[in-house]
Amino acid sequence: MKKKKYSMETQLIYGKALSKKWDYNHHVIPPISSSATFRLDTAKRGAQGFMEFAHHTETQKIESCAPIYIYDRLGEPNKELLEENLAAAERGEIAVTFSTGMAAISAVLGCLTGIGDEIIAHSVLYGCTYSLLTNWYPRYNIKTKFINLTNPKNLLKEINQRTRIVYFETPVNPNLDLIDISEVAKILNQINKQRPKARKIYLIIDNTFATPYCQRPLELGADFVVESLTKGITGFGTDMGGVVVGPKWSYDLLLMYRKDFGGSLAAKSAWPIMVYGLPSLPIRFKQAMASALEVAKFLSTNPKIDYVRYPGLDSFPQLSLARRQMLDYEGNFAPGVLIYFSFKGKTPKIRKEKGEKFINILAKEAYTITLAVSLGMIRTLVEHPSSMTHAAIPPEEQIKKGIDPGGIRMSIGIEKTSDIIADLKYALSKI
Ligand SMILES: *Cc1c(COP(=O)(O)O)cnc(C)c1O
Repeated sequence: MKKKKYSMETQLIYGKALSKKWDYNHHVIPPISSSATFRLDTAKRGAQGFMEFAHHTETQKIESCAPIYIYDRLGEPNKELLEENLAAAERGEIAVTFSTGMAAISAVLGCLTGIGDEIIAHSVLYGCTYSLLTNWYPRYNIKTKFINLTNPKNLLKEINQRTRIVYFETPVNPNLDLIDISEVAKILNQINKQRPKARKIYLIIDNTFATPYCQRPLELGADFVVESLTKGITGFGTDMGGVVVGPKWSYDLLLMYRKDFGGSLAAKSAWPIMVYGLPSLPIRFKQAMASALEVAKFLSTNPKIDYVRYPGLDSFPQLSLARRQMLDYEGNFAPGVLIYFSFKGKTPKIRKEKGEKFINILAKEAYTITLAVSLGMIRTLVEHPSSMTHAAIPPEEQIKKGIDPGGIRMSIGIEKTSDIIADLKYALSKI
């Protein structure tokens, strides 16, 4: 119908209904998709879109499917382009993104567990993951056993018929203990051989700390990787997101979960992660890791500091595991951007006070170091786990779990190394 027939008010809504300017084929950068819903040419096409959603056949190649987009919560171009790149980065078959890291973690756990199942997790976990497992899952009679997985053999006496998932982070937050992924995978493979396929135990790794640039758990035998995109992958601190990477058979399940629980990644957040975050991850991390090693060495020489833990230091207690497990895409040692250290002090109370004082000086005086949670950003961030991220755990329990009351966690950014060290030197001189 002729456009002239319609009022300007209406035309301001529709514009040129079919513009040739909407051209994906010739864009160097894909446009930000910002459409909550999608036009379906015919009822038949609409029906086909609903029928096909989350119903990929065994033989279909997911990457070659031209999807019929229906509604942003189900899928749209920006997050699906990002998902292809994330699956490739983690060397997995498929990736499904979520609105946050926690949405991704609850999705993979929700897809793989049911009433009566058990999860085995490492004794120290990201606080909200711990809360999910202890405050919410017991409502559905899903129990979690928290054990020390730095010795993978501890699994043997804890696994039973109800166990469905083994879950951990490595490096562990905040003390940077490492857990041997391939050793855990080997133990689970042995056990899975004696179980029916429907009761298989899945290994899920939270790879947020290392990012796929420094560690690819799927190559080491894990079944699923979950990740907060908010941290190292976005890198600039502008957006939140999460992802599950895993085998092809889980793709439809994860899409259905996301559709019904609703934690979809906004297209406006998928876009900067795809355009700025992921492409700059290697160069950002190369710079930050080089600084992290220098900073860790500098801190090690200070007489006020009791110990420094960084997987790249020769003094790191699990150095051989670090060198085996934390590698970049070319096989170079990639020990990450996080450092953990603590002050000397006769009692835990004195150490804790020193840690807090140090943090306060940095917060007030430092230009290159910001007191803030989060990590993996281009800015160096510092926090005091004992009084901040892990404060819910009583001090005696903290020590048992390997959280030092005086411990400081630093996430190194891409500032000039000497500037970071100068700010640290100043703060150290004041305590
Ligand atoms: C931040 C973080 C999460 C949660 O991610 P959000 O994007 O904040 O929901 C999960 N695991 C680890 C290790 C994290 O650091």
